[in-house]
Amino acid sequence: MISYRELEKGIMKLGLSPSHPVIIHVARDPFESIKGGVETLLGALTANTYAVVTPAFTYRTMLIPEKGPPDNGITYGSGRQANEMVEAFDIRMPPDEALGDFPRVFSRLPGVERSKHPILSFFGLHSEEYLSTQTLSNPLAVIENMMANDGQVVLINVDHTANTSIHLGELMANRKTFVRWALTENDLVECANFPGCSFGFNAISSSLEPYCGSLGLAGLEIKALPLRDLISVVCNMIQKDPSALLCQRPDCERCNALRK
Ligand SMILES: [Zn+2]
Repeated sequence: MISYRELEKGIMKLGLSPSHPVIIHVARDPFESIKGGVETLLGALTANTYAVVTPAFTYRTMLIPEKGPPDNGITYGSGRQANEMVEAFDIRMPPDEALGDFPRVFSRLPGVERSKHPILSFFGLHSEEYLSTQTLSNPLAVIENMMANDGQVVLINVDHTANTSIHLGELMANRKTFVRWALTENDLVECANFPGCSFGFNAISSSLEPYCGSLGLAGLEIKALPLRDLISVVCNMIQKDPSALLCQRPDCERCNALRK
């Protein structure tokens, strides 16, 4: 069993600091090896940091329309059945189940706020200056502004397919983005600059080794790395090979659209 003290001490060694914001991605595990589970994990993380952001994504607000712009990595008209299950975004809507318990537990901390993107919203603690920069057509502005303040990424029992910040690197390397649509209480809204697929992101792992701090404790693996280093590695990879970090699934519409 990992205790709060052990966890806090370990996290301290990762070089996180209250002076720099962090974006945290956590697996949907129950974290049974930690005494007190996700709550203890969150406590140890916030003891070592100040501004903390975590995804609160709600893909279940997305609709597939009958038509739209070409080369958009989507089959128009394919969502007729699924569209009936779509839920309108509401700021109180829980994040998708796939994100596990962490965002829900995080959101109960006093002072946590949420950005307003109907698909790619973030929860943030002491992070109003980052959350408020997000717009419908610039969902990754939150991360961009965290990077400007020497922010770090923290990955807990997840690999780079969960590392949303890699999408910011793709954007900065001028990789094409997509348009998606989300239902809100009043409207169907167009969300421009929607990122591509992340299934191929683990190809970045070895290039990031020199920048990653890591902590391994009974069944728990935490990695921390500076956003600036991450983004510069992504940009270099895409500059060298325009198809870098795309996935190999033959039917992946977004990666295929980018290869074109
Ligand atoms: Zn793909």
